Amino acid sequence: MVVDVGEAWTPPHLFALTGPKDWRPPLSRTIFHESVHYWQFIGHAHLIELMAEDWARLRQFDATGDTVPPGPLRRAFAQRMEGAGFSTLDLMEAHARFWDVQAFGPPLLIELELQAPQRDVSQVLTLTEYEQLKTDGKIWRDVDVDGEGVGYSSLSFDLAMRLAAGRYAVPYLRLREQTNELIAAALFPLCVHFALHSASPPGFYLALVERLVPQIDLTAGRPIEHAWRSLYMDVLREAMLLHLDRHGREFRTGQATIHDSPLFHEHVGYTLAYTLLAQSCDHLEANRPRDFLVGPQAMPSGMRALWTLDFLLGCCGMAASRTPDLLAFLAPPVIRFADGQIWIPGALFDAFPFESAAPATAQQPPPRSQVAAALLALDETWSAMQLKVLGA
Ligand SMILES: [Zn+2]
Repeated sequence: MVVDVGEAWTPPHLFALTGPKDWRPPLSRTIFHESVHYWQFIGHAHLIELMAEDWARLRQFDATGDTVPPGPLRRAFAQRMEGAGFSTLDLMEAHARFWDVQAFGPPLLIELELQAPQRDVSQVLTLTEYEQLKTDGKIWRDVDVDGEGVGYSSLSFDLAMRLAAGRYAVPYLRLREQTNELIAAALFPLCVHFALHSASPPGFYLALVERLVPQIDLTAGRPIEHAWRSLYMDVLREAMLLHLDRHGREFRTGQATIHDSPLFHEHVGYTLAYTLLAQSCDHLEANRPRDFLVGPQAMPSGMRALWTLDFLLGCCGMAASRTPDLLAFLAPPVIRFADGQIWIPGALFDAFPFESAAPATAQQPPPRSQVAAALLALDETWSAMQLKVLGA
């Protein structure tokens, strides 16, 4: 729940989340990427259940000083599924990486990667090779009248994904083997999103991709955000059927999962997250145009708002999920820098004027600074537990 950024503290700026490529990109990139992980942990049933497991261990340690071994979800988390070649953790990282590439654009991300002092990506791409690709006109989709690159090529998108560390690109590349870059870009975040609601994400992801690829037909030229929005309900339907097939029950949204978990009452970060998710649903229903909401018009608007929030969290890196009015609800509760100084990003967006009717949800969230302090204290207990486990 604490978003850790191993960089020097700097005064907070809302562009780090709303427009990361336009504000100190090397720093924004880390803040943005780690914030995507926060959104994953409040928006995906599997990860919330994993957190509930860890939470029970932490509670036990806090009360008695005894350490409890990791639960089944934690033990499976980083294990690569046989045949798939990737784990739930890899899937999560691939999803976060996909949003890095979308938010920054492949050329900027590739350049940041090539310049990063702590990374060596020369096995995938060297600076000389990159310069050659630029000269050959293979990085940009087009050039404008001044000779400046416009858009980006599918080669540069794939390269930016491949430059991700370790096995993080594998789930995306598995999809790319089966379809063109347009359909891959449209399906990838939605398939990972629903897989992260499921009981066993890697297998679910591969099975969902298998079912969907032959069904999808897209034509180029439309903004990709339109494709995610228009495909969301179809992918949801397919994912529900698949989950019923594999697990005998429907999956639930992140919000419903938090509500039914001990985290809702016991974990200060999840109490805050749940309250703000409920308020953001009210906000979406009251203040966004009808056609912003996903789902058929005949569906009750409260239900459409719930699924819209699920969509926004699944596509948490897209611009529509990072507008200031939504970040007032969804910004991570605390971002900690290398020297221990923090940002409380929600406070930045609270101060931002936006058109909003009062949320209908009665419960009000606890003050943000109180939550941030409590989360930092929890994080210390967690570190103490890890140290004891290592020392034992
Ligand atoms: Zn990451």
